[in-house]
Amino acid sequence: MTDAVRATPVVAYVGLGSNLSDPAAQVRQAMAELNGLPESELLARSPLYRTAPVGPADQPDYVNAVVSLKTRLSPRGLLEALQAIERAHGRQRDGTRWGPRTLDLDILLYGDERLSEPGLQIPHPEMGGRAFVLVPLADVAPSGLRVPGLGTLADLIERCPREGIAPIPVG
Ligand code: ATP
Ligand code: CA
Ligand code: CA
Repeated sequence: MTDAVRATPVVAYVGLGSNLSDPAAQVRQAMAELNGLPESELLARSPLYRTAPVGPADQPDYVNAVVSLKTRLSPRGLLEALQAIERAHGRQRDGTRWGPRTLDLDILLYGDERLSEPGLQIPHPEMGGRAFVLVPLADVAPSGLRVPGLGTLADLIERCPREGIAPIPVG
């Protein structure tokens, strides 16, 4: 862990994605692991969505979801914890941007903080235009939620075409 735990918890939102090796099971398992993170409490999990891939189109569809988390982990500590979960799911980084993966965990929001450091940008820089992030985010966040620098979640959703995304029935 590179830095300390915070005295006061913040609500963070984490985006989950997978398109390899039983993606829905990867995402459900990752939610259980997020529930076990130190210094953290899982608040809510969105339904799972089947979504069309971003970037290279010759890869399987994704399963995406979002969770909200109350955490005292610092942003960097949370990122490291998420990357440890990705590695435990056999995530390989072969250098292909947006290539297929067993598990992708992105910090979307960390309270109302903005951060731009090497290897860590918050809010997640692509989230404002991604229906596969915004739609499940709206399942677990109030629509009045402000995305620092971008406006309210409700406004972002309104501007983002809801394309290539379908809820996965429970069960
Ligand atoms: P995208 O970021 O467009 O969703 P990706 O998730 O496929 O693409 P990765 O290969 O998983 O990208 O991550 C590349 C790097 O992004 C990571 O090594 C990480 O350090 C960095 N990164 C920057 N900001 C964040 C964030 N908010 N959450 C997770 N990773 C981040
Ligand atoms: Ca991502
Ligand atoms: Ca990522």
